[in-house]
Order: sequence, then C-alpha cells, then structure tokens
Amino acid sequence: MADLKITMPDGKEKEISEATTPLQIASAISPSLAKKSVVAKVDDHYIGMNEVIRFSGKFKLVTKDEDEALDVLRHSTAHLLAQALRHLHPQIHLGVGPSIANGFYYDTDDLAEADKQVAADEFPAIIAEMKQLVKQNIPINNRPVSRQEALKIFAADPYKTALINDLPENEEITIAEQGDYTDLDRGGLVPSTGWIKHFALTSVAGAYWRGKSDNQMMQRIYGLSEWDASRLEEQKKALEERKERDHRTIGKQMELFFTSQEIGAGLPVWLPNGAAIRRTIEDYLVEKERQNGYMNVYTPVVSNLDLYKRSGHWDHYRDDMFPAMTADDGEQLELRPMNCPSHIAIFEHEPRSYRDLPYRIAEFGQMHRWEKSGALTGLSRVREMTLNDGHTVVSPEQVEPEFKDILRLIREVYADFGFTDNDYRFRLSYRDPNNTQKYFDDDAMWKHAQDALKRAMDDMGLDYFEAEGEAAFYGPKLDIQFKTALGNEETMSTIQLDFLLPERFDMKYTGEDNQDHRPVLIHRGVVGTMERFVAFLIEKYKGQFPTWLAPVQAVVIPVNNGAHGDYAKSIYSKLMKDGRRIKLDNRDEKLGYLIRDAQVNLKTPYILVVGDQEVKDHTVTVRFRGSDYTKEMSVDAFVEMINDDVANYSKG
Ligand code: ATP
Ligand code: ZN
Repeated sequence: MADLKITMPDGKEKEISEATTPLQIASAISPSLAKKSVVAKVDDHYIGMNEVIRFSGKFKLVTKDEDEALDVLRHSTAHLLAQALRHLHPQIHLGVGPSIANGFYYDTDDLAEADKQVAADEFPAIIAEMKQLVKQNIPINNRPVSRQEALKIFAADPYKTALINDLPENEEITIAEQGDYTDLDRGGLVPSTGWIKHFALTSVAGAYWRGKSDNQMMQRIYGLSEWDASRLEEQKKALEERKERDHRTIGKQMELFFTSQEIGAGLPVWLPNGAAIRRTIEDYLVEKERQNGYMNVYTPVVSNLDLYKRSGHWDHYRDDMFPAMTADDGEQLELRPMNCPSHIAIFEHEPRSYRDLPYRIAEFGQMHRWEKSGALTGLSRVREMTLNDGHTVVSPEQVEPEFKDILRLIREVYADFGFTDNDYRFRLSYRDPNNTQKYFDDDAMWKHAQDALKRAMDDMGLDYFEAEGEAAFYGPKLDIQFKTALGNEETMSTIQLDFLLPERFDMKYTGEDNQDHRPVLIHRGVVGTMERFVAFLIEKYKGQFPTWLAPVQAVVIPVNNGAHGDYAKSIYSKLMKDGRRIKLDNRDEKLGYLIRDAQVNLKTPYILVVGDQEVKDHTVTVRFRGSDYTKEMSVDAFVEMINDDVANYSKG
C-alpha cells in the first residue's frame, strides 16, 4: 500500500504507515479519547476503530457525545437485531436496517416461513438472543469486496442482491462482518457488540420494499437504542406518549370517525362527535372567508372526463385519480381529484373585466384521489377528502398583494387555533425539471412562476426552504409544513401560483384598455383538507379540544335519574337552545363511572352533576377538565361562563 497522508482536525498533516488503525491514533493522543471514540471518518468514509485506514483525507474521530455517534450505535443495534433474527429464523430475508430519528429499524421478510412472520410477541425471545450476542462482545469489521464476491456472499438474499445490482459500476462495495453474520454495509458501526447495552424493540409494521407499493410488503421491526439506561427510559416514555396521541387511537376512544373494509379503504366515516368538530371548523372558515372577500360555491364532485383532459389532470395526474366511469350512452365521467377546473368554469361562466378582479371563490370541495393502499393512514391520508379550497383570479400586477393577503389570512386562522410560528415552516415547492411526465414542459413558465413566488417570500422577509419535485403539475407552491405530534412533517396549507391553467382554459378578462388579458390563477387551501386538519388537531390537543371545538362541550349527569332526571333535562335543553353541544348522560350506571367516562373517553371540558342540593338551589356543580376541582354555581353563571369560553377561540 502506498503511503497515506491524513489531515488531523487541528489541520496538521500526518503520514501514516501501513496497518494503522484509528484506535492507535486515538490512543496515542489520550486513553480517554480512545475510550469514547465510536468510529472514525476519513472524509466521508467510515473506518471502524480497529480497521486499517485505507484512504488519505481529513481524519476525524466520532466520539460518544456527538449526535452522529448515536446514529452509529442505532445502526449497529439494527445489525445486532438482524444477527439475532438469523439465529432464530435461519431462512429470514433481510432488507435494509438504518438508524432513524429516534431509533432504528430492520426490514425483514420471512418468506421461507410465509405464514410465520415476525410478530411483537416474539420480541422477548429476540431481545434475549441479542443480549446473548452482546455478552460475547463479537468484533465488527468492515471490508471492501469485489462485486462478484458480494453477489456470491448474498446469493441467498434477494433484497441484498438487488441492492448490489443497483450500485453504480465504479462504487466500492463493502461488507460488515460480525461473527457468523455478514451484511452489505457502508460502515459506521461500533467496534464490537459489547458496546450496545441499552436497547428495546418497540413495534412491527408493514413496509413496502423501497417504499414502493408495487413491491413486496416486508415486516419493519422498530427499536430504540441509547448510550445510557435513563435515556432509554425517556425514549420509551416518549414513544408511549406518541402512541397515546395518535389520532387513530383517540378517534376510536372519542368516537370521532372510523374506516372499514366494508365501506372501502381510505373512505372515512365521520361519526357525530367527529362531524361536530368538522362542522364547527367549516362554519368558522366560511365566515372568515366571507369577511375576506370570498364567494362560497358548490360544484359537482363528478364531471365529464373531458374537463380533466383539458386541464391536464388526465395527462399529468392520472395515477392519483380514480378510474373513469363509462355510462350507458358512452359518456365518460370522472371523480374529481381537484376542484380547480370547476372553479375556473365559474369564472368563465360570464365575461369578466378588470373590475371583477381579484375574483375569489371558495368551496369545501370534496375530492377523490387514488392514494396507494399502503399509504392510507386514519384521517391524515385518505382517498375521499374535502379541501378548504379557494381560487383567486388576478391580473399579473395583483399576484403579489393577493399572495400576501392569503398568507395573512392563513396566519390569522392559525392564531385562532393556537398555532405559533414554531409549529410550522415554509417550503417553496418547485418542479423537478427532469420529470417531464409529471410537470408541464415549459421552462420559461416555470422560471417565471418560481421567481415570482420566491420574490414574494423574500419581500415579506419570511424564512423558507426549497424542495424540488414537490410542485403541483401546473405550477410551484408555497407549502406550509407542520410537524405532527408523531414526529412526521405534513403539508397543511398551500398557496400555488398558476400561469398554466389560465392558458389551457383560455381564461381572459377585459382590461381598462378594453383589450383581452390573460389572468393568473392562485390556488389556496387555508387549512388543507378537513381530514388531515382534524387528524392534526386531535394529536395537537390530545383530544382535549378547546371548548369551541369540543364535540361535546358539557355533559349533564343526574345523581339519581328518578329524583333529578327532570332537572338535568331542563339544564340540557337550556344549554342546547343556547347553541351549546350538550350530552345528557342518564344511563343507569354508578355516578363515578359516568364522570370517568366523560373525563377519560369524551375529554369533555365541563361535567355538570346535579343532585338534591342543586335542584333545591337551582344550581349545577361543575367539574373542570384536567382537575378534580368542582364548583357549585347558578345555572345562569355557568351559561355565561361556557358561552364566554366558546367565544374565546384558541383558549385550550
Ligand atoms: P401530499 O404531498 O401530502 O400528497 P399534495 O401535494 O398532493 O399532498 P395538494 O394537491 O397540494 O396536495 O392538496 C392540498 C392539500 O390537501 C394538502 O395540503 C393536504 O392538506 C391535503 N391532502 C392531500 N392529499 C391528501 C390525502 N390523501 N388525505 C388527506 N389530505 C390530503
Ligand atoms: Zn386548485
């Protein structure tokens, strides 16, 4: 091997002889450094602490206190899991096993025992095997192999073979060896299994090979791994909390919605409690839009297919559309995936002049999209959805002021829901210029639209990040990305600039000069779809909705239905007539049980218990959410309190 030269972090160059390991270098500096160094890097290549340095370049030791070391530990734990799985199921196929934000996973596919996939009840046995391997402190080493050798090693592993075949011709292939277990791996692993001490397996879920739903479904086993026991406990707790917050869990508990195979995947049914939340949001938004100059409309969810051929949806968005229906007379009909063409038809219904602009229309537009079955999730990704949609037709000069106005409206709405600037970030979504199948092929148009969007954001002094390939097929967009309680990022609101559909539909307005002009179309969704928005709110509030949104704002419970039932009913009626959402719970159950049900399952803001005393004093005893504090007050005082509470939107 030729002489190698590495540059140390302090900038000094160092010649190293053959067979130098990072551990030798670290030990020469200090024993404590050697002890806490997890792995080394030369430029972007990982070198295990006991491996021979094979490259010249910038040298760095990754120490335990760095975030990167945690990735190394988690990645190593995924390997440990894979080794244990191989011991328990020698025939198991392995996909990929990376570290992720809070832990790691490994994709497996127990094809040889197809009816016997890895399930959570096997975790204790797997953990026991992993611990056994830790005890043996098996050395872990990476080494380069030829493509031929790699294909031979992984001949029985269809997924690894596919990965090898996909590697570029000139790329070095390396494998990780850990006792009897070998993996295809770029490195970034701890020196031996003894380094892995505090870990857990948490769940198993289906995942498509390479995330593509046409591919084989695999079992993804998730786990946690940390340097110390207390941190692992914290992570376990956080995970538990995330599960509790999951809108699917809370949706069941509060009876908000359900989906069933009988009705169809991704077609949610809104139960009365969920519908109450949704209706409240819709009423609020319609009023807000009215105050901001929007005209509300209703348009059909199904239209003649030609409409979507003209708009370009059929050419560029067909994969996301339901199959077309052909009627007896040959007419082809399509469930709409977007509302834009219908709103354009409204603009075009009459001749328009510059005096009509900005022309703003809004609709809670129901749409259908053919989402892949593997991607469907509760309410947050569905096949039938209702978008809080709006389209503004503007003159070119009005693009910027209107864009700003829409953004202001969106942020006003956020404030009413109690969101702060920390809850979201702005993404400018551009086209991928190489994807001409998805995006209209008109370079000048794209550049113009993307520049306009960027300029508007810069003008407003707002921070954003840019993403290629996330634009709508007809134009770039500003997406407002929210971090969900479960740690994912999702698009909630969006504003899109469109110079294309106006061309396609030959939209025009008469200018002050009496000539025809081409307008610009701005698409916007203030809170996105009702489905995704409500899913988000459920997780944000953990089901404890502020009073104005709570599906049931107060539960009235008579201590004894015979003696206090009529009085309870009178209070129920009074509040209901006042516009409140009230439940009278006079079931023949113990008082404690009814209170608990209202507190725990319904998460209602107020529980009103009425017995002898309350009947006599014409009062209610109020129990407040989140505490066992109770207070007796006159019925009128309570009515005033709850009405105030409702009027005060964002108060949680
Ligand atoms: P995504 O990237 O999430 O699939 P998109 O870019 O296709 O969304 P748009 O066409 O911009 O979405 O749709 C507007 C809004 O509709 C999004 O901001 C999001 O709130 C919502 N949305 C999109 N697809 C779904 C879905 N399958 N289920 C629920 N809501 C959705
Ligand atoms: Zn649109």
